Amino acid sequence: MFMCLGMVGPSFKGIKIAGLAVLFTVLAAFNPRPFRAANAGVNIIVIDPGHGGKDPGNLGTGRYRTREKDVSFDVSALVKKYIEENLPDTKVILTRDDDRFIELYQRTVIANRANADVFISIHCNANDNKTAYGTESFVLGMGEKDQRLNKTAQLENAARLLEENWESNYEELNTNNPAAIIALRAYQDAFLEQSISIADEIQRQFEGRVKRRNRGVKQQPLAVLRGSTMPAVLVELGFLTNPGEEDFLQSTQGKELLASAIYRAVKEYKFKREQRDAGIQTEGSSLTPVVENSVPPVSDKPTETSVEPIPESIAAAPSTVINVAIEDGLTLHFSVQIAVSRNDLPCLPENFKGLESVWKQEQYGLYKYFCGRLTTFTEAEALKEEVLEHYPDAYLVAFEKDKKIDLNEAKKRAP
Ligand SMILES: [Zn+2]
Repeated sequence: MFMCLGMVGPSFKGIKIAGLAVLFTVLAAFNPRPFRAANAGVNIIVIDPGHGGKDPGNLGTGRYRTREKDVSFDVSALVKKYIEENLPDTKVILTRDDDRFIELYQRTVIANRANADVFISIHCNANDNKTAYGTESFVLGMGEKDQRLNKTAQLENAARLLEENWESNYEELNTNNPAAIIALRAYQDAFLEQSISIADEIQRQFEGRVKRRNRGVKQQPLAVLRGSTMPAVLVELGFLTNPGEEDFLQSTQGKELLASAIYRAVKEYKFKREQRDAGIQTEGSSLTPVVENSVPPVSDKPTETSVEPIPESIAAAPSTVINVAIEDGLTLHFSVQIAVSRNDLPCLPENFKGLESVWKQEQYGLYKYFCGRLTTFTEAEALKEEVLEHYPDAYLVAFEKDKKIDLNEAKKRAP
């Protein structure tokens, strides 16, 4: 059945009130700070094993007794184990500890109430085309062009049908009118860049270390991500409808490899965030050293798996960045990132508090605005100090041929 979030049935007064109650539950669980403190770090992670209880998720090929809800739970539990063993300052909360049904909106309420820094929902994909395979990650898409749900989003949103009063549970979150929705939208705009960054890293780890086919990062209006007030990603580990991929996903080794790839992506994101935050707060402040207790079984070399590449019409969609600014031939340069927005603004001083030499990049419909293109770190530091007076959350970034690279690495290589 084709479902679109704009297409909801008629509602009765009583149900509408129930819907509003749900909306306020979601909003009441908001983090009261519009933007987290710069040194907030990444300390609480909510992992959401998809489906559960009366909702088995997709059934795969039918050759196994365990279904999507079981595979997603096993992988989620392993992600929790790896993170807690190796990042002792990070707490992981699972939205379910056993095989039970939880409404989709309730899953983000759990994350909001826990004041989580990241929300990751873990699922397995399905398709009528038995040859479809590979991993993909989703972030929330709310623009007009995202409104038509793709096959995966239809499947993942279908769990709503098992909820009592499901139409009212989501109707209020689908209207664009109430001020509360605008507030929610502002939160999600603010976190979209970070959501994309985590999703990208997860896909990179799946592809590079576990040798999965990368179907890319996509934006869809997914019900389970709708109420989130932190960076939020839905991960599809692979297709249970593809026999080869199902064998891998059902195997202990497959689950361990995928879970450790997610753990490594979380670790990367945590370090990047904390490095960035430390840079804003106090110059030269060091990160807490993290000792790896037990290293999850992912080697630095990609692992061969049983899935044979099967030709398929959909091409892999790795992330693309469109540079909509200057062509100055700089190979390595530093800039100050000042803002992220869905709005494509002309890079004029009047749009950026009088700052000159602003330029931008576009990725997934999101515009990132930067100030300056400097070849030495010292110059860049001086510029950052100036920019901070206008944009207190601004921070330094480094580029190589207009592709973002690690700041410390760039610092070492810069003159
Ligand atoms: Zn699912």
